[in-house]
Amino acid sequence: SNAVARDKNGNRIMVFVRVRPLAKKEKEAGSRCCVKIVNSSHIYMTEFATPNDYLRLKRVRGGHFTFDACFSDSATQHQVYSTSTSELVEAVMQGKNGTVFCYGATGAGKTYTMLGTVENPGVMVLAIKDLFSKIRTRSYDGNHVVHLSYLEVYNETVRDLISPGRPLVLREDKQGIVAAGLTQYRAYSTDEVMALLQQGNRNRTTEPTRANETSSRSHAVLQVVVEYRVRDAAMNIIHKVGKLSLIDLAGSERALATDQRTLRSLEGANINRSLLALSSCINALVEGKKHIPYRNSKLTQLLKDSLGGTCNTVMIANISPSILSFGETQNTLHWADRAK
Ligand code: ADP
Ligand code: MG
Repeated sequence: SNAVARDKNGNRIMVFVRVRPLAKKEKEAGSRCCVKIVNSSHIYMTEFATPNDYLRLKRVRGGHFTFDACFSDSATQHQVYSTSTSELVEAVMQGKNGTVFCYGATGAGKTYTMLGTVENPGVMVLAIKDLFSKIRTRSYDGNHVVHLSYLEVYNETVRDLISPGRPLVLREDKQGIVAAGLTQYRAYSTDEVMALLQQGNRNRTTEPTRANETSSRSHAVLQVVVEYRVRDAAMNIIHKVGKLSLIDLAGSERALATDQRTLRSLEGANINRSLLALSSCINALVEGKKHIPYRNSKLTQLLKDSLGGTCNTVMIANISPSILSFGETQNTLHWADRAK
């Protein structure tokens, strides 16, 4: 990442792609792969899945893409964490905010990347583990306090995933936008965190028709707040706060189908307002616009102090290698390409 161009604040959106292994079902269907990782930053996607796609997909085709890094199906959780997120953990300990998103279609590997499993914990767990180990090994850092909150944005409603209950109201106070009444869990060690997050994930909204499956329209937002005190040159005590937001986004498939429409025309439609609003904010940031439209959705309001400006932003685009997901993969790669 040393060769990467950065803006005057030393920031830019870092964009990564992760290809998951072919699933059993895809293998059984005799499914071929339509993506190939050429080298650590270069991915190639075949042009067309079938001859008919030529007409349907003329505008968004396959081809060559470069990103900050491309992770193949054999990349470990640790490799993904250390390449994409470990720098942000370091920064958050210095009071700098940052955000990591996993973006992609349902089934592409977002939750695996973010939460992972007990055997293979993902970015959320590895980030907290790393944070605690840094706090422990730095003697001067005896005063770092860590709080976690875990919430869901579903259908423009905010819910606490640690202590589920009524929808939460977003309020603006002197610290920025806060979800009133959201549990701030004081964390002392990593051990309790995996269980807490797994339980939180079980509290995510499920579709009425598929009772055991997490809704593809739910965004899960983990916020890790690190507070500490330092003395300035005059030996006054200064209170510092850094916040790291780790986000397992809703499935991108529905939003992409209507990418061209305005937010207004989506009112009432079964479309993910927060995901579209996030895309608008990221495009505005990439284009260097002065006005970033944070107010358009709950998710972007929550991230107002964590996206753009002096914050670090990381996007991990998750894709399936299977030709069965050709259209979704194409859309995700083009979306990620625009976020660079
Ligand atoms: P999403 O959250 O994007 O809908 P999941 O993370 O639930 O997708 O992944 C779909 C399935 O693929 C799950 O069974 C998951 O365990 C598996 N999977 C995803 N990524 C990987 C990976 N990198 N290695 C192994 N299995 C993976
Ligand atoms: Mg998921």
